[in-house]
Amino acid sequence: MSLQGKKALVTGSTSGIGFGIAEALLGAGASVVFSGHAFDEREANAIREICEKYHAEPHILYGDLSDPNFCESLIDQSVDRLGGLEILVNNAGVQHVAPIVDFPREKWDFIIALNLSAVFHCTKRALPKMRNAGYGRVINIASAHGLVASPEKTAYVAAKHGVIGFTKSVALETAKENITVNAVCPGWVLTPLVEAQIHKKAAEQKISYDLAKIDLLSEKQPSLQFVTPAQIGAFAVFLASDSASQITGAALSVDGGWTAR
Ligand code: NAD
Repeated sequence: MSLQGKKALVTGSTSGIGFGIAEALLGAGASVVFSGHAFDEREANAIREICEKYHAEPHILYGDLSDPNFCESLIDQSVDRLGGLEILVNNAGVQHVAPIVDFPREKWDFIIALNLSAVFHCTKRALPKMRNAGYGRVINIASAHGLVASPEKTAYVAAKHGVIGFTKSVALETAKENITVNAVCPGWVLTPLVEAQIHKKAAEQKISYDLAKIDLLSEKQPSLQFVTPAQIGAFAVFLASDSASQITGAALSVDGGWTAR
């Protein structure tokens, strides 16, 4: 599936799922801007390596997407680097797990700002560029938690449900314009975001990391296997392609059966 000549930004792509998506887009021939919160030598080297593999120029931009001004500036800088923007993957996100009565107000505000409002700010800024290009693909990385809930994840679940609602609304606004807007809803993917939850579970239940990992999967994901960043990447390539032009406003699960229960 070729995305030759297409220009893409993947937010939160210095790590985890975003990195897998950016790699898959590069592999399909797109030019890609990587983005992360703050510089990290190991992550930057991995990006340089992958760009070398695909003979692509490494574009990496850093900043805090919980700041609306940075969201707009990230889109503008990406357009400057690539000469346009046709594919936007809103992926950056964080998690915080705590019962509601102990949930810090600043964590709530930050998760809503990053996991939900940044999706609005980036999409709003990017759409005129897609309209100019006559081609647009917005891919919002929501979560199984955009469709169903778990306890102690109020901010995350609220933000991800919000992302799916936002996706549907923008898809209706752009339906006639060769611009699609979709949400991808992964189940468990073994990334730093989930590793932190496994370590917490192991400590709380006084069990090993490996046992906590099996426990985490058995609780939610019937396949008992983690989804991989490469699988989400391959799916994003399909959604970004011409073949997916009639898929819009959808919340698409890649979750090993999590939400089939
Ligand atoms: P990760 O921790 O591996 O990566 C997060 C990325 O977001 C990094 O590139 C980081 O630099 C960036 N980021 C973090 N805070 C930021 C900020 N304030 N400003 C700008 N960038 C910031 O996480 P991941 O597991 O790959 O998650 C990526 C997305 O996928 C998130 O939206 C997450 O909610 C979603 N998701 C993850 C899973 C999972 O099981 N890992 C499941 C469903 C959905």
